[in-house]
Amino acid sequence: MLQLKDLLIQFAIIIIPVFLYEMFWLSRYHNTSPKQNRLLVGLLSLLNIFICLLYPIQISDNMAITFSILLMYSAILYGGRVIGIIVIFAKPLFMYLLYDISVLKCFPFELISCILPLIVSPQWVSFSRRKKFALSILMPILYAICIICLLYYEATVNGVKEYQSEQTILSVCIFFTVLTITMLFHVYLREFLFENAEIRVQMQKSEKLNMVSELAASVAHEVRNPLTVVRGFIQLIENQESGTNREYMKLVLTELDRAENIISDYLNLARPQIEEKKIINMTEQLNEVTTLMSTYASLQGAFLQVNVTEKMFTIGDRAKIKQAIINILKNGVEAIKETKGYIKIEANIEKMRDREYIRIVVKDNGVGMSRGQLDRLGQPFYSLKEKGTGLGLMVTFSIIEAHKGTIEYLSEEGKGTEVHILLPAYHMEEENTEEL
Ligand code: ADP
Ligand code: MG
Repeated sequence: MLQLKDLLIQFAIIIIPVFLYEMFWLSRYHNTSPKQNRLLVGLLSLLNIFICLLYPIQISDNMAITFSILLMYSAILYGGRVIGIIVIFAKPLFMYLLYDISVLKCFPFELISCILPLIVSPQWVSFSRRKKFALSILMPILYAICIICLLYYEATVNGVKEYQSEQTILSVCIFFTVLTITMLFHVYLREFLFENAEIRVQMQKSEKLNMVSELAASVAHEVRNPLTVVRGFIQLIENQESGTNREYMKLVLTELDRAENIISDYLNLARPQIEEKKIINMTEQLNEVTTLMSTYASLQGAFLQVNVTEKMFTIGDRAKIKQAIINILKNGVEAIKETKGYIKIEANIEKMRDREYIRIVVKDNGVGMSRGQLDRLGQPFYSLKEKGTGLGLMVTFSIIEAHKGTIEYLSEEGKGTEVHILLPAYHMEEENTEEL
């Protein structure tokens, strides 16, 4: 006599509180990651247990059963032990109010089956997805075993004919199958909606951050123009002044340059996206950058050596890649100071997991870095230099990341630094390479 209609009604009653919870709690504005609202979980469970009991599933003439146990599990797991225990003991009260005391035969077994959720409840949040799903299948199965034992006892010891009929046995089997699926679906929905709410909060946060950084970028841009004007005039006056004033002017000029550097580094940072996507001839690019930097390097007492002959191509923004490499080379030169060191640039194609990458290695024998310094690389305004901005590497990191590449620093204090950059390689047909 198990009816599909009854099963569907019970199914709906179990799923509805999840959506109500989403509507009343998760979809509200949260400033930080949302927390479970235990009280609401408890209240919704109580309400729906009551509705569950109003529309029980009639298995046979004298046997009716509901999905309410699932709401008890859910209340224990998501509402905590205290809320769970309140909900567990509210059920017999509801049954007493709606029917009479004789229907309480199952209750001790329900109580036993609640032991497992009560045990795992405090750790439930920290469980992995898979463990949660496994447990939410196990719980209804344990309940089924309890109830089937009860029915078996009634059928054999007390000789209740009704429980021996094939139809009843079939109905009970179907009932417990649907019960298990419902529990799994209930937990899945809860987890899914909760995760969604968490993602929403994170998105709101990053949206805010985006707005602020865009605002800052436009301010930085506006500040640069007056700076240029000031710099021009100071330079004009400097030529006419003499003595201490001239020294002061020089100081003003260097500080203005520093401000200018910070602003242009910041602006590079605020626009890390690749603006153009073109085929870049890395061999050419590396040689070009080295030529560009070699005068600066030799002035600082460093020797720049490039060893790249293999033809390599990647796709991206030429100017950005150039900027990234210049930042790294500049750091290398600055690390060498007066000790007359070298900076070596090497590059080759490397195959990794069926994909080809360009590995660029920039090696210097400068001051090197300690473990702690290495960990802080790429953080904004982290600089050990008197005139450093601490933005160069942050820009470099974000450029490499935007090109789907990786960057790694190996360094030893006093010995030197090795920078490894991996960029996805692009395959050029032979005839096309000539045109570039
Ligand atoms: P800045 O160069 O303006 O200080 P960066 O972001 O370019 O800022 O670099 C941050 C810090 O990382 C530097 O101040 C320096 O201490 C350290 N660093 C970077 N590259 C090297 C290197 N090749 N050798 C030693 N230290 C380095
Ligand atoms: Mg730098």
